[in-house]
Amino acid sequence: MQELDIDRLMNLAAGCEEAIRQRVDDLMRVQEELQGLDGRTCTGREYWRDKDHPTKTAKLYVLHSIDQACPLHGEPEPEDRLRVYVGSKFARIREARRAMELEDERRRLEAQRGEIQRGLASCSYHLQSFYSLLGYTVGEDGRLEPR
Ligand SMILES: [Zn+2]
Repeated sequence: MQELDIDRLMNLAAGCEEAIRQRVDDLMRVQEELQGLDGRTCTGREYWRDKDHPTKTAKLYVLHSIDQACPLHGEPEPEDRLRVYVGSKFARIREARRAMELEDERRRLEAQRGEIQRGLASCSYHLQSFYSLLGYTVGEDGRLEPR
């Protein structure tokens, strides 16, 4: 077993609250970013018509999976899919692509939020174990009960 290093132990304990607070700040920031994306993302994918046609202009559609809702385009009829005409105008195509990119961003942020939440839950578990090692009982609200 490692020799007891009291200074190291006290340093570990002293940094604890600040480290947790920073992680909670990270979580709040991710939550805010997610809220900023509400209703602006598109779960569809690109589908082109007449892309290789010799005379017709290529037109973009956004297709969604069957029964897949889209924050931007709404809900499909049951067992149907949303099919949205975008057309051939550059600005409209850019707008549609932006919404799909934002959906990727939303998924990335949700994964990040899950990771932070799992980390904090694990911290909570380990801190409770930590206090029980010191002979304390922890109440429902996380406060130490008198010994
Ligand atoms: Zn959509």
